Amino acid sequence: MGIYEELGIQRIINGNATLTRLGGSVMPRQVIEAMIEASETFVDIVELQRRVGEEIARLTRNEAAYVSSGCAAALVLGTAACITGLDPEKRERLPHLEGLKDEVIVHRMGRVGYDFAVRQTGVRLVEIGTEQETTEEDLQRAIHDKTAAILYFMRPDWTTRGLIPMDRLIAVAKARGVPVIVDAAAQIPPVSNLWAITEMGVDMALFSGGKGLRGPQSAGLILGRKDLIEACAFNGPPSPFIGRPMKVGKEEMIGMLVALRLYLAQDERALLDRYERQVKYLVDTFNGLPGLTAWRAFPSEAGQPMPRAEIVLDERRLEMTRDEVLKRLMEGNPAVSLAAAGKSGVSVNPQTLEDGQERVVAQRLKEVLRLEA
Ligand SMILES: *Cc1c(COP(=O)(O)O)cnc(C)c1O
Repeated sequence: MGIYEELGIQRIINGNATLTRLGGSVMPRQVIEAMIEASETFVDIVELQRRVGEEIARLTRNEAAYVSSGCAAALVLGTAACITGLDPEKRERLPHLEGLKDEVIVHRMGRVGYDFAVRQTGVRLVEIGTEQETTEEDLQRAIHDKTAAILYFMRPDWTTRGLIPMDRLIAVAKARGVPVIVDAAAQIPPVSNLWAITEMGVDMALFSGGKGLRGPQSAGLILGRKDLIEACAFNGPPSPFIGRPMKVGKEEMIGMLVALRLYLAQDERALLDRYERQVKYLVDTFNGLPGLTAWRAFPSEAGQPMPRAEIVLDERRLEMTRDEVLKRLMEGNPAVSLAAAGKSGVSVNPQTLEDGQERVVAQRLKEVLRLEA
């Protein structure tokens, strides 16, 4: 009996996304082995963080890098870095910011729930723009001497949502001396985002370690400007300040480095081709079956260059609602998690499926839809 069986925890086939509530991603064996090796001795944790950071910076063509305990922690540390720099007196005062920089600018149309992590430092979010558009004027007017940073939640389709184009945003920010932080947690693939975002002039780009990179679930990356990343480390563990509850173990640091090396060594085109094969299999299996239409959707919901299979149900003909289908898939054995798509569709995302698991998903879906005994 495995440990999950012993605890009565159902294993789940994830055709949904790199969701934290499902465990994020599954680490390659080499990552686990490196983490075991890392776990077998004591080391100087500050020295390890520095060396791993140097190595990751070199691999990702950045000035500096830092392993955080996730992208949400990266948002906290990145914001704290912009407020405190390397000033011990300021560091000690967080999250009480009287007299310190206490505002972070965000697009009204660029909000996501993760901005709580930014506010954890004590800052107030200042929204710019409307549902229709945001102008450079809006940004210019919002910046003043209390502005700590400009935060942007990255989506590749952002210009179509009335946000200021990134190059213009960076130009204004640079002219006014305000750092730009980009949350790109789930923006891999493409792997080029590890350098392309900072090459554009963004000061810090933040990623989850346990999503597309398939590193430890409790790891993340801060990439970018050396002085700011030093200030992240200054606020981070093991020092007993804002980042202390966001501890990163030696195992996670090493696991993150090895996961990154593996990702960079693989052929991303081949990975995307595999996703295409899995999606094609699902579309070919379901499209045209009674009560079903299926197609390849592209890009992903987060705008990444990845396909997924969308299967739309004629709920009346099938005498079953989409939500019932999703529920029954989760109740089955093996449990299968898929995402809802549109009003009556489900989507299958290959990113979190192993090669071949698309067949298990198809089989379970057929059973639930009573297309096969
Ligand atoms: C997942 C996610 C986060 C949080 O990342 P963790 O690594 O789970 O802490 C932050 N921002 C966005 C946009 C995300 O998708």
